[in-house]
Amino acid sequence: MTAQADAAVVVDRDWRMIIGGRRVSASDGAVLDVVSPATGKVITTIPAGNSTDVDRAVDAARGAFPGWQKTSAADRGRLLHQVADAIGEHAEELARIDAIDNGSPISMLRNDVRLAVDQVRYFAGLALELRGQSIPVPHQGELNYTVHEPFGVVGRVVPFNHPLMFAAAKIAAPLIAGNTVVLKPSEHTSLSALYIGELCARVLPPGVVNVVTGLGATVGTRLTTHPDVPRVAFTGSVETGLLIQRQAASGSVKVVTLELGGKNPLLVFPDADLDAAVAGAVRGMNFTWQGQSCGSTSRVYVHRSLWTEFLARLAVDVDKLQVGDPLSEDSDVGAVVTRAQFDRVARYVDIGLADPRARLVAGGPPADPAHGFFARPTVFAFEDGACDSPLLLDEIFGPVLSVLPFDDYRDVISQANRLPLGLTASIWTSSLQTALQAVQDLEAGYVWVNDSSRHIPGAPFGGVKNSGLGREEGVEELYSYAQQKNVFIRFDRGAHSA
Ligand code: NAD
Repeated sequence: MTAQADAAVVVDRDWRMIIGGRRVSASDGAVLDVVSPATGKVITTIPAGNSTDVDRAVDAARGAFPGWQKTSAADRGRLLHQVADAIGEHAEELARIDAIDNGSPISMLRNDVRLAVDQVRYFAGLALELRGQSIPVPHQGELNYTVHEPFGVVGRVVPFNHPLMFAAAKIAAPLIAGNTVVLKPSEHTSLSALYIGELCARVLPPGVVNVVTGLGATVGTRLTTHPDVPRVAFTGSVETGLLIQRQAASGSVKVVTLELGGKNPLLVFPDADLDAAVAGAVRGMNFTWQGQSCGSTSRVYVHRSLWTEFLARLAVDVDKLQVGDPLSEDSDVGAVVTRAQFDRVARYVDIGLADPRARLVAGGPPADPAHGFFARPTVFAFEDGACDSPLLLDEIFGPVLSVLPFDDYRDVISQANRLPLGLTASIWTSSLQTALQAVQDLEAGYVWVNDSSRHIPGAPFGGVKNSGLGREEGVEELYSYAQQKNVFIRFDRGAHSA
């Protein structure tokens, strides 16, 4: 059987939403086509949910909330460990589903499944750590303490780039804090989320996890404006994040957290280890996800003393990357998620090629998309660090890297900080003084020194400026899904009124 024929078998299922523990179609029976990025062909369908389906899911989540809230934290942790076990048992199938549906290479997606399991276990292990405080009181016979209580129903909206990992990992913290969840995956990559919903339904009480598929404009809008959803968490583009912040405020007060986009700088200082910095720039661009990663360091600033050598080595390393079938073990780079995303990448490559200030260093225009959305890892060098090419300003979310030279510390920091975004930054230097100074000066929520791309378990991830609001992946995420209740108790009335 060929890889693609095998692929057809993996996704050839009757995909349904999960509402109240049951597998259901959209209330009006509507479906959306699922297109394989590697072939451009329709491979299956998913339910095209609507507002009624969201309302049903929210009702199911509300119905499940009192029981889930009363479940002891230790038992919630035990159940989440069982969800992690179930994901681990289906790891290969889940990785293959994502490779087919999302287009990233199977080797990377196996790692995503491992990370998902680790993150679910991390939050399961924190079940007993949602602690309140006791606060000193003026009189004997009094006690003041705080407890952390869940919000109720959490609306969780996730993007296309790490489908399984986000579907699994992003529901763990709200569940451990005692909330129930309605998950809305990207319409482009919903299959693994539906699968996760089924696994959850086998382990958790009905209604604790619900998965509604469909378009952002219908399902996403209803979920993030629903009066019975007091807590909304969104991962996706800045544009949609701004919209959600506005629409969430339309009918009720909601707590909203946002994990948004980036156009992240990587700075190579003159005393950097050149080999390591080149490897770090390739890794940091996340070419192995076709550049579709929010943390990608897509603007690389290199000190002029290293410029020529850096570019030469970078070109060699980028050209080595094998673009091919996401299901092939030999592919380093798979297919871009949709035809629209492919066209976007092609447009930016054309802009670079037409710009006299830009020099093509590696890659180039993508191949004909008739047989799959394969874009080549591409690098442009700009001699003028201050120029206003869209390649330097926009989050392309594709495999296109821009490299610029710099001479002066102050100038490179101001170039790095010039955008209204601030998710990640990467600094390459052998000087602790330079590193600490740059860490302080760079406007970013997550900074690497002599590394890139890695997420450290438990370390808070999130952006400043328009890259987001809130922190995830650490204990802060758990606390963000709970609200404090203060309790003041006075029993010994006679003692201090005397
Ligand atoms: P997107 O904003 O287009 O869509 C994300 C999700 O929002 C999808 O499920 C979509 O259906 C839904 N949506 C769309 N319109 C909506 C609306 N009006 N109301 C509610 N939901 C709506 O993003 P994408 O293209 O799927 O993902 C790429 C973006 O995500 C990039 O900008 C990337 O940087 C960002 N991202 C950020 C992080 C992070 O942790 N900061 C992680 C991954 C991706």
